[in-house]
Amino acid sequence: MVLEEDKRPLILQEIPLPQPTHEQVLVKISACGVCRTDLHIVDGDLRPPLPLIPGHQIVGTVEAAGKHVKHYKIGDRVGIPWLGKTCGQCIFCKSDRENLCDNALFTGYQVNGGFAEYCVADARYCFPLAPQLADLQVAPLLCAGLIGYRAYRMTGNAQRLGFYGFGSSAHILTQLARFEKREVFAFTREGDVETQSFARSLGASWAGGSDSSPPNPLDAAIIFAPVGALIPKALKVLRKGGIIVSAGIHMSEIPSFPYKDLWGERKIMSVANLTRRDGEDLLAIAPKVPIKTIVQTYRLEDANEALNDIRTGRLQGSAVLDLSLFGGKKL
Ligand SMILES: [Zn+2]
Ligand SMILES: [Zn+2]
Repeated sequence: MVLEEDKRPLILQEIPLPQPTHEQVLVKISACGVCRTDLHIVDGDLRPPLPLIPGHQIVGTVEAAGKHVKHYKIGDRVGIPWLGKTCGQCIFCKSDRENLCDNALFTGYQVNGGFAEYCVADARYCFPLAPQLADLQVAPLLCAGLIGYRAYRMTGNAQRLGFYGFGSSAHILTQLARFEKREVFAFTREGDVETQSFARSLGASWAGGSDSSPPNPLDAAIIFAPVGALIPKALKVLRKGGIIVSAGIHMSEIPSFPYKDLWGERKIMSVANLTRRDGEDLLAIAPKVPIKTIVQTYRLEDANEALNDIRTGRLQGSAVLDLSLFGGKKL
């Protein structure tokens, strides 16, 4: 499913099978999660080079491996995340912050991604997957989970955690937060009682609209929705010394707010991308929780419908393309 021009639907096309370089694996894709970042790309909020196959939460099996690939062989199941490659040379790479690499390449952004039957990926950035994590369920962990996890870790040992925007990431992190005995407060669009009850069903102790106040001040809030106005709102319900982490790649403008709302050593930060360490950590802890992602599946050729359901907030949990369903439509 190819994006040829932004603000246009993806187009089903037949293209030549990509050939792996020495460091790459060729992967036959079984599932690919659909992320809000994919929607930002299609909507033109982000401007990668086109044409492009989006998708950066890829699960599949290795069909061929370049001669320098060490850790995978044909038939191995792998996960391919957003972080596609880093330079290893810049000051960020050299200080354990490869997520900030000056020369990084991102999957489904500068390199073709997983809204396809096959892709190639640099094997050093792929993750092995534990057998207890099923293809469709593990796919959303590869971005919603991983970047959400990085944001979650930035909240330190916050006990009362607010999630603004209760989609793919928040539904995963709620399970992890409950496992770690933290309390979750879920903020949704005003009046979205369906998502509020979904949040409570996963263990949120409170759920309400983003203008409401939780019963107690929050120790931390993670903003998943791409809405800048949520930052001053979250500051109003954050205790002194608390932190707000913005986890999305794109956000509308943040309105001004009085300095007294930030006073008291409250912090605001963003989280960008992921390190391989974040991936290893989350994929190790996921089976212990165990994290059960709730997925709505779509056929590959229905990727535009999946994107639209994320845009309208119509689905609960994560959207995933199930490649085993592909073939319904002939080119
Ligand atoms: Zn670098
Ligand atoms: Zn993503």
